[in-house]
Amino acid sequence: MKPLGPIPAGFASVDGELAVQGIAASELVERAGDTPCFVYSSDMLRARVASLRAVMPDRLSIHYAMKANPFAPVLALMASLVDGIDIASAGELKLATSAGMDPANISFAGPGKRDRDLEAAIAAGVTLNLESEGEADRALGIGERIGVQPRLAVRVNPDFDLRGSGMRMGGGAKPFGIDAERVPALVQHILAAGAHWRGFHIFAGSQALDADAIIETQGKTLDLAAQLSDAVGHSPEHLNLGGGMGIPYFPGDVPVDIAKVGAALAERFADLPPVLADTHFAMELGRWLVGEAGVYLTRIVDKKTSHGELYLVTDGGLHHQLAASGNFGTVVRRNYPVAIASRFDAQASEEANVVGCLCTPLDRLADKALLPEAQVGDLVAVFCAGAYGATASPADFLGHGKAPELLV
Ligand SMILES: *Cc1c(COP(=O)(O)O)cnc(C)c1O
Repeated sequence: MKPLGPIPAGFASVDGELAVQGIAASELVERAGDTPCFVYSSDMLRARVASLRAVMPDRLSIHYAMKANPFAPVLALMASLVDGIDIASAGELKLATSAGMDPANISFAGPGKRDRDLEAAIAAGVTLNLESEGEADRALGIGERIGVQPRLAVRVNPDFDLRGSGMRMGGGAKPFGIDAERVPALVQHILAAGAHWRGFHIFAGSQALDADAIIETQGKTLDLAAQLSDAVGHSPEHLNLGGGMGIPYFPGDVPVDIAKVGAALAERFADLPPVLADTHFAMELGRWLVGEAGVYLTRIVDKKTSHGELYLVTDGGLHHQLAASGNFGTVVRRNYPVAIASRFDAQASEEANVVGCLCTPLDRLADKALLPEAQVGDLVAVFCAGAYGATASPADFLGHGKAPELLV
């Protein structure tokens, strides 16, 4: 038997079934139109943002990194709850502005921005987080050509990374940002060219659960920003501190102690070096804000045994939930939180492998999991499906198509 990850708080049962906001799984599937489907909870999204605001200093803005979940109703709700949206493509720019976010509060990071992407962003008044000197020059040229002063922040590739982070974004050679020692010269160049220098973007990693590691990284980020600003001789208007907070997916994972992170940040804000005294700060989060607020529901189509092992074969799979299958940036496959949604209150009594419908051995949703006895027709829930699910999975692989999404 292999343990399952922890089911996030806030899920209850109605008539023995898993429920989201008091709506039973079978009813959710009916509303979504089919299985498999993604269901997101607006109550949970609201509560999540509120819990963060409650512990973070008022001076810190909360930005949503929309690549975690760009589903239009989710994005519109998030746009109404957060202070800014971070985008990573011109396609996301369109979605973010359609969701009602003021371009003045949108920032655009990501390597490989094409001229037409830069032009759309500059014309809209979005802040560009510059990933290279070459990109800076192209942005300055485009600004001049279309007669709009570009809003430019410099993404710094720091010399440190986020300890314990699942995905390292800084430290050493990286395709992201500009190596710290070259940053002051680039900022001078931007200022001399007459662009609007917005400040810095320093993103050192993501999916960290250890508050102390996050606190340490935020401290180093503030130190680095101060040092670079002193070297430039100007105060940055804005400092994007990156994100980094992850969510528990696997057995033994515990949630980030956000109160501890907030208290440490408040302490640092109370004692800022003069060059950062008037700087505005933001944290950009994707997964932490939306990941736990979503569940993926899939139906058991077949139940079979092979060499003594039980298989529950579902109509879902890695084409929608690549991360749960263990094929999205994980080294060792571990089980996500999974449950039999239509028998949520039943005692776990049999060991089963939950697999998807794709013709590849990679398509596993749970390995050797202890679950209630399930039958063909039962619904399986895969939790932590609110981030990097629907749009971060190869939906066209094997032709089953996209899963409907529903915000309740
Ligand atoms: C992806 C990304 C994020 C969000 O990361 P999460 O782990 O989802 O919080 C934030 N900032 C940048 C620049 C990113 O590329």
